Amino acid sequence: MLEPDIESAPWEAQEGADDAAYRDQIGYLFARSRFYQEKLAGAGFADARAAGGLADIAKLPFTEKDELRQTRSRAEPIGTHCTATREEIVRIYSTSGTTGTPSYIPLTGADLDVWQRVSSRSYAASGIVRGERIVSTYNAGPFVAGAALGAFDRLGLCHIPVGTGNTERLMAAVDLLKPTAAVMTPSYALHLIEWARARDFDLAGSSVKRVLVAGEPGGGEPAMRAQLEAGWGAAVTEAMGIGDINVSLWGECEHKAGMHFSGRGFVHFELIDPATGAPVPLSDGATGELVLTHLVNRSAPLLRFRTRDHVRVGIGLCACGRTAPRVRCIGRTDDMLIVRGVNVFPSAVREVVNEFAAEVSGVLLIQPREAGVRQDPPLPITVELAKGASGEGLAERIRQRLRDKLVFTAEITLAPAESLPRSEYKSKLVAKH
Ligand SMILES: [Zn+2]
Repeated sequence: MLEPDIESAPWEAQEGADDAAYRDQIGYLFARSRFYQEKLAGAGFADARAAGGLADIAKLPFTEKDELRQTRSRAEPIGTHCTATREEIVRIYSTSGTTGTPSYIPLTGADLDVWQRVSSRSYAASGIVRGERIVSTYNAGPFVAGAALGAFDRLGLCHIPVGTGNTERLMAAVDLLKPTAAVMTPSYALHLIEWARARDFDLAGSSVKRVLVAGEPGGGEPAMRAQLEAGWGAAVTEAMGIGDINVSLWGECEHKAGMHFSGRGFVHFELIDPATGAPVPLSDGATGELVLTHLVNRSAPLLRFRTRDHVRVGIGLCACGRTAPRVRCIGRTDDMLIVRGVNVFPSAVREVVNEFAAEVSGVLLIQPREAGVRQDPPLPITVELAKGASGEGLAERIRQRLRDKLVFTAEITLAPAESLPRSEYKSKLVAKH
């Protein structure tokens, strides 16, 4: 544990301990955030006193990413939720922004320090220790993932940055520099197994003993994890964050029971029902969307920010000694499709398809017929075969299994091995209209 006093403290006491910081932060919003001055006044909260403490947080309105976007202008390119002065901001990240102009994430020096401290806790959970060599495949360019790399210095690791898009260079580094750990998206980790197999590169026999995956769901799905662990001959653990709040906020420990919350003292999390917005009590096995609130942020603080990450929570003491709840990401609410009233997460589809691991490659593409969320059955899905698999009767078995487990009807088309596109970053599970 990086900070045992904090990470092993009783979880029940956390909310009480965070209350003072939360009230300060709300005071700061009323003093400095035009976005929240208007939003909270509009919701009937005239001042910080009216907003109350952490126990009353569910009375306050949510913040949606779109609302922030709408306040951006040429004069205020970050948005009206930016609270720091030009002189206070030391870094500005951009999100990849699939539509139009990027959104910007500013950080003060203190905010950057918090980001790296929380990221360090989340990556330390994997069991990696001072002196290990870690090869990274994230671009430290404009995107928030670069900020997570600062955690490796703090942990005393020897960091070998390779960046995205250069598999030859990465594998040369693995071969020659003998790192014990590698960090990448699960899609890329899977792709590298195929890459190595095609070139007789003994990946399972390499020096890498830990693969830390992040950036998308998948690394926690049992079949995909088993495939990654076998292919790499390494332990696979996950980390997760969100650029608007903290780049790496959750980190899985060596006991692999989900990602521990690593933002204690800096971020407050809630679970909600995405359809109604009602709070979901934190109990073992509960599912819902994560909603996050900055307890300490001076540049672009957010209150009850809807992450669109749908998770399953794990509660109770973990053998590692960390007391914070754990989560497993089920999928993004944004990627969810509704097939005749049934919520379907693309990553859950992949999890079911991967039960047929001997016959499928793990790569698939969902191809909705209509634009938008609502779809009529059957939902077309192309599933790629494993190398050498005949696919005999497979489409029907997958169709039935999806029907039994996720309660929707699919139309399965099998594709030849290695025919679907691969990704060095995040994989695309749904062909959007
Ligand atoms: Zn643990």
